[in-house]
Amino acid sequence: MSSRKDIIQNIATSKLKLDHIDFKKTSLKEMFGINVFSEAAQRERLSKQIFKALQRTIKKGDTLDPAIADAVAASMKDWALEKGATHFTHLFLPLTGLTAEKHDSFLTPTGDGTAIAEFSGKELVKGEPDASSFPSGGLRATFEARGYTAWDPTSPAYIMEGPNGATLVIPTAFVSWTHESLDKKTPLLKSMDVLSGQAKRILKLFGKHVTKVFTTVGPEQEYFLIDSQFYYARPDLINAGRTLFGAPPPKGQELEDQYFATIPERVIACMADCETQLFKLGVPVKTRHNEVAPGQYEFAPLFEDSNLATDHNQLVIEVMRRTAPKYNLAFLVHEKPFAGINGSGKHNNWSMATDEGENLLNPGDTPHDNAQFLVFTVAVIRAVAKYPELLRVTVAHAANDHRLGANEAPPAIMSIFLGTQLQDIIDQLEKGDAKSTKPGGVLDIGVDVLPKLPKDAGDRNRTSPFAFTGNKFEFRAVGSSQSIGGPNTVLNTIVAESIDFVATALEKSISAGKSLHAAIKELLPVLIKENKKVLFDGDGYSEEWHKEAEKRGLPNLKNTVDALPVIVRKDSIDLFTKYKVFTEGELKSRFYVLCEQYVKTVNVEARLTSFMGKTMIVPACLRYQTEVAGSVAAVKAAGVDPTVQLELLKTLTSSISTLQSSLTALDGALAHHASGEPIDHAKYYRDKIIPAMNAVRMAADKLEGFVADDLWPMPTYREMLFIR
Ligand code: ADP
Ligand code: MG
Repeated sequence: MSSRKDIIQNIATSKLKLDHIDFKKTSLKEMFGINVFSEAAQRERLSKQIFKALQRTIKKGDTLDPAIADAVAASMKDWALEKGATHFTHLFLPLTGLTAEKHDSFLTPTGDGTAIAEFSGKELVKGEPDASSFPSGGLRATFEARGYTAWDPTSPAYIMEGPNGATLVIPTAFVSWTHESLDKKTPLLKSMDVLSGQAKRILKLFGKHVTKVFTTVGPEQEYFLIDSQFYYARPDLINAGRTLFGAPPPKGQELEDQYFATIPERVIACMADCETQLFKLGVPVKTRHNEVAPGQYEFAPLFEDSNLATDHNQLVIEVMRRTAPKYNLAFLVHEKPFAGINGSGKHNNWSMATDEGENLLNPGDTPHDNAQFLVFTVAVIRAVAKYPELLRVTVAHAANDHRLGANEAPPAIMSIFLGTQLQDIIDQLEKGDAKSTKPGGVLDIGVDVLPKLPKDAGDRNRTSPFAFTGNKFEFRAVGSSQSIGGPNTVLNTIVAESIDFVATALEKSISAGKSLHAAIKELLPVLIKENKKVLFDGDGYSEEWHKEAEKRGLPNLKNTVDALPVIVRKDSIDLFTKYKVFTEGELKSRFYVLCEQYVKTVNVEARLTSFMGKTMIVPACLRYQTEVAGSVAAVKAAGVDPTVQLELLKTLTSSISTLQSSLTALDGALAHHASGEPIDHAKYYRDKIIPAMNAVRMAADKLEGFVADDLWPMPTYREMLFIR
């Protein structure tokens, strides 16, 4: 392996040949979606009748007529072959939080020594990967490993280009043969359906008869890019995705000179490359910029329906991961690759919209729409107030524990920030009638004459986990590496429950003879009173808020292990089974899988810490110790007072022995086998292993501060973050 000096030399003199994409020749507009079997491609290639039937399934949720699958498969295959595809794959989102795929060739031998390209409706609709190696949390014993993938026509198939040929990728749901979901997509689709059904009830009261309500999501993706030579010299980045050692750099992010700064050339070349590929795949990446931490960046797409947004976010990550090495860059998607520096999140911008495109969280211009807006908004507030722990648990995993509550990430206490104007309106509404609004706002707010809300009703509060930002809510606690499928499934379900509650109350009042507006005027103040404890527009980082939140009775589940049991609590099971989003068995299995994932993640990190400590850091320190001891002897031999050298030798020796004993303690903790349930294992890892790891790191980082730089065995923070 090259030394740090060589790596830096390489980077300084590297003449990386950057790909040249000529946007004059092919404009982004022409590129967009060319690798997608899109609605346009379907219209062009399918018979009118088949096209219409497929669109009914996609847009209205009608069950797919199996008879049309063969026709769709045939034209999908022709399209894919024209694009140079040789294989097809069913892509799914197993509980690992990653994507999984198995490729099959289109070729079928005919028996006479030749072969033809074939792809049947059956192959399109259903696949049967060996499911035994995916986490199922006990839903499936290995001897009955059958699981199958089922085509999701609402997320279009696409062509993934590779250096040698291309693959037709078919997004699918992954379920066990007993119909339990083994993936992130199936429950998401169910939750979207549930919300649609409930939201339509409210819209009906307003005289609107829509076919379907979609939840919409725009996930802003944060990530780090560092030179890949640094990456390859750090076993912790390779194996754990984050640095397990590293003293804080002399210059960190305190100068605030990074956010929105000019993007380095190599990085922007890589981004443009990714954007080109993503555009071809129909992923509407829109925004790119430098983030707060050195080496940190962000991609934001335009919002889409939650299912598509979830698949597309996975594609963004996949394309980034594959493309970065072309530019000698490593893509780091971990929530906290560098301690003490901003972590990466995924701001999950969320709203609801009708199939006609009306955003239900848009304050709108007319009083009529405002009443509707306020009903939906209060329903969302009630959902977060009633189920803060469920929302919290959707973002609970080992990596996100390093992020929540530290450096610009929201705390683990779930609260809502409405912004001054909306908060003011809600405050007035609580009192039943409102006559005035804050400067810059508008009008009287008797429910019949609701105010016209300004478009930018939400200002910024980065400390809030759940903020209203003009025409959507932004759930900011989601981690950069996780699938947004889980958080959105829960968000959709708790809001659906809340809308159900509101719709039921309004329908009851109306059938008792009240007008819609009278019913709303009666209900909303009560709901606001009951749920306003979750509204908070101050500084979420402050000590006072933690105390205040406790007084208000808001839960603060500080880490993953505290949060996970919420999944299998009776009220959670009741909620998800009532709306048929998860069965009790599915919830239990997810709880087990998440406990196991926590234990496995921390276990890998702990073993790496031990390994790197013993084989890299201690040897470097001993080499330096030998040098210093040599210096003591040399100075003595020269007849000079060796006090200074001896002082250094003593400090060094005692620091090494602290490191040694912390390594021994970590190994001891790792050798102990915890018994009991998966959650007990997780507790052991949280309470015993993580502190032992932290002790090793503290001792090692201290040594990094005074061991000779040329002996330090791995790239440092100041190098990885600042040398581009
Ligand atoms: P910022 O939060 O940095 O101000 P934007 O306002 O541009 O950024 O929006 C951030 C994200 O929110 C984008 O991905 C955007 O598409 C998404 N977004 C905007 N409107 C909606 C909506 N109605 N539903 C879901 N996401 C939305
Ligand atoms: Mg944002």
